Amino acid sequence: MDLLVVGSGFFGLTVAERAAASGRKVTVIDRRDHIGGNAYSEHEPQTGIEVHRYGAHLFHTSNPAVWEYANRFTTFTNYVHRVFTTHDGVVFPMPINLGTINQFFGAAYSPAEARALVHRLAGEFDERSAQNLEEKAIALIGRPLYEAFIRNYTAKQWQTDPRKLPADVISRLPVRYTYDSRYFDDTWEGLPADGYTAWLERMVDHPNIDVRLRTDFFDETQPLHRRATLGRLPIVYTGPIDRYFDFAEGVLSWRTLDFEQEVHDVADFQGTSVMNYADAEAPFTRIHEFKHFHPERADRYPRDRTVIMREYSRFASRDDEPYYPVNTPSDRAGLLAYRELARGEDGVFFGGRLGTYQYLDMHMAIGSALSMWNNRLT
Ligand code: FAD
Repeated sequence: MDLLVVGSGFFGLTVAERAAASGRKVTVIDRRDHIGGNAYSEHEPQTGIEVHRYGAHLFHTSNPAVWEYANRFTTFTNYVHRVFTTHDGVVFPMPINLGTINQFFGAAYSPAEARALVHRLAGEFDERSAQNLEEKAIALIGRPLYEAFIRNYTAKQWQTDPRKLPADVISRLPVRYTYDSRYFDDTWEGLPADGYTAWLERMVDHPNIDVRLRTDFFDETQPLHRRATLGRLPIVYTGPIDRYFDFAEGVLSWRTLDFEQEVHDVADFQGTSVMNYADAEAPFTRIHEFKHFHPERADRYPRDRTVIMREYSRFASRDDEPYYPVNTPSDRAGLLAYRELARGEDGVFFGGRLGTYQYLDMHMAIGSALSMWNNRLT
């Protein structure tokens, strides 16, 4: 074995695939019972509908190298992601655009009129002196749109009143002064035509790659654990950085999600793939309906059944799946200390969202893995 990769998410698999293609023998271990990390999807057994087990995953990128690389393993559908939100019993398009503004104010503003209105409403606070998330959001989009679409949704995401959240949790709140309601504005977007798992499986389909599931790097009863491998061969580590150092500099905090999946005997539950719930009355933040991600599979999916998933957000405890970094000042200080420790760890390369404590979209995980391979591992 020439290289050990800990974690089979997009970061780990990209490094493993590149290493195998260049003739190295690679072993990939993952503590879960499947490859793919959070991008993993599976067919719901009663309906055959592809479900993203860890929440809806939409692929999008403006990076030509990542797009070219991804297309070696899968083709993409022409799915374009659009999100809606329910507020006060009415459905609006998200992110906030001219359609949202005109529907909300019951008006027919031109782009310039809507821009002037938002600018006037936002004048209530100065962005630079905002004391908390609420003031910052009002300084960006004005109180009415904030109270309708941001306040309660953010409170549910963080289980915290936005007046008690720091202003730097948000840097910008996108508002489009056109009727363009596309969620992403990247050059390329789409969903893998045969599903995420088929894409991920093709990445490891190489004689030089050995995958071992249900194998935890810190479990000393399995042969490829940290003490047994450190210093013997290069290791790409994509698990949590604080766990690697036995939490010596404290526990980095994360938010996690709980998912509640249901099969319904209706052809269509909500008419779209993702519906956000902006008000406090609904305890969940959004509902995913998976058949809408693949309209081209209408012939293969059941006509009279559908799968939905409600998503709830909360702070993670140590046993929960870490999903989004909380990034408090003490997390940032801890991360700097861990980076320093990581620099001293010869032969271990920390990567991916857990190994670097940052939110990465799939294209960012693939892009940074390609950079690590090209610049540090070849
Ligand atoms: P991961 O996918 O987390 O993989 C890390 C792997 O390491 C895991 O499989 C884990 O089991 C394994 N591991 C950890 N510790 C150990 C250990 N001790 N021993 C062995 N294995 C270990 N991206 C998009 O582009 N579009 C989206 O729409 C999108 N939606 C998302 C929705 C949610 C809810 C979340 C959480 C993420 C979303 N992402 C999305 C981000 C996407 O999931 C990540 O970019 C991608 O998963 C990062 O890959 P990774 O390899 O860094 O990490």
